[in-house]
Amino acid sequence: MSTVIAIDGPAAAGKGTLSRKIAETYGFHHLDTGLTYRATAKALLDAGLPLDEEAVAETVARKVELSGLDRDVLSRHEIGEAASKIAVMSSVRKALVEAQRAFSKRLPGTVLDGRDIGTVVCPDALVKLYVTASPQVRAKRRYDEIVARGGAADYAAIFDDVKARDARDMGRADSPLRPADDAHLLDTSEMSIEAAFQAAKSIIDAALSRNAQK
Ligand code: C5P
Repeated sequence: MSTVIAIDGPAAAGKGTLSRKIAETYGFHHLDTGLTYRATAKALLDAGLPLDEEAVAETVARKVELSGLDRDVLSRHEIGEAASKIAVMSSVRKALVEAQRAFSKRLPGTVLDGRDIGTVVCPDALVKLYVTASPQVRAKRRYDEIVARGGAADYAAIFDDVKARDARDMGRADSPLRPADDAHLLDTSEMSIEAAFQAAKSIIDAALSRNAQK
C-alpha cells in the first residue's frame, strides 16, 4: 500500500515548497492538486469557453492529464482566480478528485497538496498537515516572490486577493478548506521554510516508525 502524506492549507501558505521538499526527502511522488484546477481553468480560457457552465467545465476537467501539468505555465494570477471559480463546481471536483485519488496510490508513497486532501481526497492518509500563515504574511510572501522575479507588485491588491481567495475556498459548500480533525496544524507565519520542514519531518518520521511497528 502506498504511504500518503496529505498537505492542505490556504493560498500562499508555503505548502508547495514544503510538499516538494518532503517528497524529495522520502522519495515519494508529488502532486500539487491546485494545478489540476488551474489546468482545467486554463483549458477553458484558451478555448474561449465560459467559466460558469458546469457540464462544459466537467468535460474539460476529465481530459486533464496529470503528467502534463506545468507549474510555470499555470502559475499566472488570472488562472488562479479562474481556478478558484470552477473549483466550486461539484462535478468538476468529482472528476479531478478521481484522478488525484488514482495518483495517491503510486508506490512507494505520495505527497498531495491542496485544500481538501485530508478531508476528502485521501481521508486515510498516514499523515495530514494543515499549513497556514496569517493573510498579511502570505500576501507579503507573494509580493516578495513577484518582486524577486523582477515584476511589479501592489501589496494592497495582493492582500485583497488573498482574502478573497480564502473566502471563496473556505466558504464553498462542496469540500470547503478546513483542517481535518486529525491534521497537525503548522502555522508558518513566524517560521522559515527550513523550520517548517523540520517540524513536518518530525511528525512524518514519528508516524512512519509507529506504522512500521504495527
Ligand atoms: O493552490 P492553488 O492556488 O494552485 O489552487 C488554485 C485554486 O484551486 C484554489 O484557490 C482552490 O480554489 C482550488 N483548489 C481546490 N482544491 C484543491 C486544490 C486547489 O479547490 N485540492
